[in-house]
Amino acid sequence: MVKRKIRKVIGIRRKLVEPRRKLYLDILVYRNLKKLLSTLEFQTVFTYMSLPYEVDTKRIIEYLIKKNKKVCMPKIVNSAEMVACEYKKKDKLHRNKFGILEPSSKQQIPPSQIDVCIVPIVAFDKDLNRVGFGKGYYDRFLKKVAQHCVKVGIAYHFQKVKRIKANEHDVKLDVIVTDRLVLLQKNAYRGECDEKDTT
Ligand code: ADP
Ligand code: MG
Repeated sequence: MVKRKIRKVIGIRRKLVEPRRKLYLDILVYRNLKKLLSTLEFQTVFTYMSLPYEVDTKRIIEYLIKKNKKVCMPKIVNSAEMVACEYKKKDKLHRNKFGILEPSSKQQIPPSQIDVCIVPIVAFDKDLNRVGFGKGYYDRFLKKVAQHCVKVGIAYHFQKVKRIKANEHDVKLDVIVTDRLVLLQKNAYRGECDEKDTT
């Protein structure tokens, strides 16, 4: 499937999730992510503030702050560049041109300092290819992070598609965490779930 079609199909799947089910899936993704993070040693973590139909990241951000991690979030500067800015508990957030909440802080964190990068996904496949919003912001950003940085995508399992035709500029993820599993390069372990993975 071409990326445009994938975005459309996943958009429909996202709309069909009932609020109570979403809450339940959010908790499963959160538990699986915590399990993954407990296996990693890291200090600086990049994450983002989720939109209503995305996996909820508020719970994740609160957890990271409680664990005394340095948290940074994306901020759009110079109209099309994404930088990482520090976010501390109780800091103000404001909406950018895409309606996404971003930190007010101008304190930039160099991408080289980021140990774990948590990114949004529209769709993914078993080879850890990612489809995003279609503007390539994360592809450009992920090229700047250090070699040691673990690139983690979070998604609902229904965002999995058979195959994504990746372009040269697309950056693959190291791990994908869903409500059903934690998918690693060439390896997967089943996370917290009560459903069979039929995909
Ligand atoms: P997304 O990753 O958001 O799903 P795409 O991978 O389809 O989106 O990329 C969208 C556009 O972003 C591309 O057509 C390209 O113009 C631009 N782009 C992405 N990555 C780069 C890059 N590293 N350098 C230059 N342009 C890029
Ligand atoms: Mg891309």
